[in-house]
Amino acid sequence: MLTGKHLIAGRWNDGSGTFRSDTITGDDRTFSAGSVELVHEAITAADEAFPVYSALSRGTRAGFLRTIAEEIDAIGSQITAIGSAETGLPPARLEGERSRTTGQLRLFADHIADGLYLDRRHDIALPDRKPVPRPDIRLMQRPLGPVAVFGASNFPLAFSTAGGDTAAALAAGCPVVVKGHSAHPGTGELVAQAIEKAIGRCGMPLGVFSLIQGGNRAVGHALVQHPSIKAVGFTGSLAGGRSLFDLAMARPEPIPFFGELGSINPMFVLPSAAKARAADIGRGWAGSLSQGVGQFCTNPGVAIVVAGTDAGSFVKAAAEELQKISPAPMLTASIARSYRDGTAALETAEGVTKEMGQISPDRAAAPYLFRTKARNWLANPTLHSEVFGPSGIIVEASDVRDLLEVARSFEGQLTFTVHLDDDDCGVARELLLIAERKAGRILCNGYPTGVEICDAMVHGGPYPASTNFGATSVGTMSIRRFLRPVSYQNVPESLLPDDLR
Ligand code: NAP
Repeated sequence: MLTGKHLIAGRWNDGSGTFRSDTITGDDRTFSAGSVELVHEAITAADEAFPVYSALSRGTRAGFLRTIAEEIDAIGSQITAIGSAETGLPPARLEGERSRTTGQLRLFADHIADGLYLDRRHDIALPDRKPVPRPDIRLMQRPLGPVAVFGASNFPLAFSTAGGDTAAALAAGCPVVVKGHSAHPGTGELVAQAIEKAIGRCGMPLGVFSLIQGGNRAVGHALVQHPSIKAVGFTGSLAGGRSLFDLAMARPEPIPFFGELGSINPMFVLPSAAKARAADIGRGWAGSLSQGVGQFCTNPGVAIVVAGTDAGSFVKAAAEELQKISPAPMLTASIARSYRDGTAALETAEGVTKEMGQISPDRAAAPYLFRTKARNWLANPTLHSEVFGPSGIIVEASDVRDLLEVARSFEGQLTFTVHLDDDDCGVARELLLIAERKAGRILCNGYPTGVEICDAMVHGGPYPASTNFGATSVGTMSIRRFLRPVSYQNVPESLLPDDLR
C-alpha cells in the first residue's frame, strides 16, 4: 500500500505541497513533494548513523544488502505492476530489471565479504634503516560519509532507489539519501518500503537510508549543497547533471559528483566485416538502437560505415528492421517532447537525409533513421548531440582515413563499438588507440546495450559521457567512488580499524 510520503530515517513524512504521478495505465496518484526541511532532517539522521553504520563488520553490512534484496523480491509483483504503469516499460523488462537490482545487491554483499576492495597495504617499520628509520605505515580504504543519490528515469529499479549507486554506497559503509525521480514515485516508494523492512530486520540505524520524493527542484540543490553530504551519485541529462556538478564544485568544501550523463555511442563497421555481413550488422544495430524505445544511455545512436555497396546493404537492412517497430510510450511526456524536438532538428539539418521515421502522438515514439556524409558530420557539431530515443544516424566515410577522422571528432563516450574481421586489424589498431582516449568501454562485434554487472565492467567515460573521472557507476569497482584511502602511521594496533589489525 502506498502512503504517497517520504521515508525520513524510519518515519513516513509529508513534505510541502503535492505532485501527481503521470501514469501510462491506471489512475495517476498524488504524492507529497519534497522540501528543504526534509532534506536537512534526512541528512542529519544520515550523519548520526554514519559512525555506527560504517563501524559495523563487513559481514553485517553484507547481510543487510542481502536482506534488502529479499524484501524487494518479496513484493516483486507489486513493484512490476506499479513500475509498468508509471514508466510504460513492459512487465518483462521490469522483472528483468528487478533481478538485476537484487543481483547487484547480492554481488556487492559478496564483494565486501572477501575484503579485497579495501586495498590494504602495509609497509613494515624499519627502525634500523639509515639514514632515517622507516615508520610502520598501513593503508586502507575508508567510507566517505553520507551520500546523495539521484535516481534515474530510465532505470526505475537498477539505477534508482536501491539501484547501483545506493548498493555501492551502502556496501562501502555510507548512509544514503535518495532523491526519487518524479517519473516513478510509486515504484520508488515500494522499494523504500522494502529497505525499511530490511533496516528493521537487521537492526540498522534508522538514518542509514531516506527517500525524498521529487516535485521540487530545491530538494536536489539542498542535497548537493548540504555540508554533511560527502559524495553524489547521479544518472540523467547532461544539462541537469552539469548544473548539479557545478553546485557541488562551488561548495565551500567541494565534493566528488559522479554524474552518468549522455552518450551517442558510435559504432564503426570496418570494410571486411561490412563485406562479410553488412545486412546482419545493420539488423543487429537496429535492434540495439530501438530496444526499450531507445531509452538507454548506451544506445548506439551513430553508425559509421565506408561508402559503397556494403554500406547500402547496411542501411537497407537497418531501415527494414526499424520499419517493423510500432510506436511505444516513452518514460515521461518531457522525454517524448525532447525526442520529437531532436528528430525534427535532424530532419531539417543541412546535408542530412531522412531514411525513415514519423512523428508519434503524445508520449509515444517510433524509430527514425538518418544518413549523412562524413564531411558534413565533421563540419556540423550540432549533429553530435544525443537524441534520447530510438533515433539513429548513419555517417558514410569515403575511406578508412575518413572513418578515423570521424572517430577523432567524438567527445567523451560511454562506449565505442567496432565490427571487424581479421583483415580489418590494421585500421582497427589505429581506431582502438583513438577509442581508448574517448570511451569507458570498447566492444568488438557486438552491441553496447546490455551492460554486464561484474568485476571488469566500466560504465563511465570522459566528459560529457560522465563526470566519473577515473570511475565507473556499474560493476564492483563502482564502490571505489564512495571510499578514500587513509594511511595509519605508527598507530597502535589496538587503535587501528578491525580490518587493518
Ligand atoms: P534529468 O532531467 O537530468 O533529471 C534527473 C534528476 O535530476 C531528477 O531527479 C531531476 O529532478 C534532477 N534534476 C535535473 N536537473 C536539475 C536541476 N537543475 N536542479 C535540481 N535537480 C535537477 O534527467 P531525466 O529526467 O532522467 O531525463 C531527461 C533527459 O536525460 C533525457 O531526455 C536524456 O537526454 C537524459 N537521460 C540520460 C540518461 C543516461 O543514462 N545518460 C538516463 C536518463 C535520461 P526532477 O525530478 O525535479 O526533474
